[in-house]
Amino acid sequence: MEKVISLCKRRGLIFQSSEIYGGLSNTWDYGPFGVELKNNLKRAWWKSSVYERYDCFGMDSAILMHPKVWEASGHVKNFFDLKSDCLSCRKRFKTENLGDKTKCPECSGKLTESRPFNLMFKTHQGPVEDTENELFLRPETAQGMFVNFANILDSRHPKLPFGLAQIGKSFRNEITPGNFTFRTREFEQMEIEYFVNPSAAQEAYEEWVKTRYQWYIGLGISKDNLRLRVHGKEELAHYALACTDIEYKFPFGWSELEGIANRSDFDLKQHGEHSGKDLRYFDDAAKERFYPYIIEPSAGADRALLAFLVDAYCEEKVKDGTRTVLKLNKELAPVKAAVFPLLKNRPEIVELAKKIAKELKRSIVATYDDTGAIGKLYRRQDEVGTLYCVTVDVQSLEDKQVTVRDRDTMQQERVSLDRLKEYIIDKLGDNTLSI
Ligand code: ATP
Repeated sequence: MEKVISLCKRRGLIFQSSEIYGGLSNTWDYGPFGVELKNNLKRAWWKSSVYERYDCFGMDSAILMHPKVWEASGHVKNFFDLKSDCLSCRKRFKTENLGDKTKCPECSGKLTESRPFNLMFKTHQGPVEDTENELFLRPETAQGMFVNFANILDSRHPKLPFGLAQIGKSFRNEITPGNFTFRTREFEQMEIEYFVNPSAAQEAYEEWVKTRYQWYIGLGISKDNLRLRVHGKEELAHYALACTDIEYKFPFGWSELEGIANRSDFDLKQHGEHSGKDLRYFDDAAKERFYPYIIEPSAGADRALLAFLVDAYCEEKVKDGTRTVLKLNKELAPVKAAVFPLLKNRPEIVELAKKIAKELKRSIVATYDDTGAIGKLYRRQDEVGTLYCVTVDVQSLEDKQVTVRDRDTMQQERVSLDRLKEYIIDKLGDNTLSI
């Protein structure tokens, strides 16, 4: 884990937030390569959840919502963890992590009784700070889809089953954030709400568990590091009929990447009752009106990204020592090709290399770099998982060919300039082209 965190900082993937001010703890910024990786991950999710399906629609709902949403959803009443505070050092602990300890684990001070702590961040809308104007930052994106159910029915006229998918920020005032980007207070979710006839809910749930598991495998996560964990009855939320977590074997242990739940008809019923709007679905064929069940695959973009990073991190013995490579799958790799001039003091070579990079950038994410000797440049690109390195040398000026090095095999091949783009695109496959 330490190695991955250090690589993230060194290579511009992930930085500590507000670092020059000492950092805001457990808050992270994605740098130039990190944002590309995150965008690729989110795009891969969007493609498989929206574009490649005939039954799901995309959405982007607001972070701020009517306060009644959180009453109806149960978050005001039930979205809390139990915590105990130390009266001496004032540290706060999640009660479930204290076990049978009765004193502060840090300073042995006296602990308060265990008390509920609501995890929602509160803010105020408008210039007056009173309880009337209180709003919450959403702790999940899901509610934005539930409350738009009727809008989707009226505007798109879908038949069951159909789903809504969205990616967006959520906020939880976690008592014990940590493990790098695994548990933070601001994070991004990728959620699907799949509305289904109650009689077909179990089957749809099982199908989604398979689909989502396969998504991680398809993007290169090792099967040995991924598992499904079915929740026992005692672990289920009161409205859930079933839930399965997809877990990844992080260096700190098996932990949840995504949960897939059968949420019954709880959400639409609650919002129907609290809003006074009829949120039932009318089935034309059966001539009946009912609340659909909802199957919810709910994933975290930051957690998935961390799992892909950890899984891709690799140290290999090579002739002159060890090289660190991020063996990210082609779709996820932040940069597809990097172009270097072998000699940066030769303007014709630099100019040609820049021209090649510019041309590649029209179709794929490519970069130009001349900030070091060739060995160093290769090493840097390996560390962020760049798939192909293209080197322009003296010979290139004459024979109009360049050297292309493959990240994984380190094999080098001379490729003629007029078919370079085609050569790279061919190797990448159409899943990796920038949109
Ligand atoms: P946990 O048990 O780890 O707190 P959860 O079961 O409360 O997670 P859900 O409410 O099911 O999580 O949220 C769905 C997904 O959102 C999680 O699987 C995870 O990927 C992501 N997620 C939830 N909380 C956080 C967080 N604090 N930081 C980063 N990602 C999170």
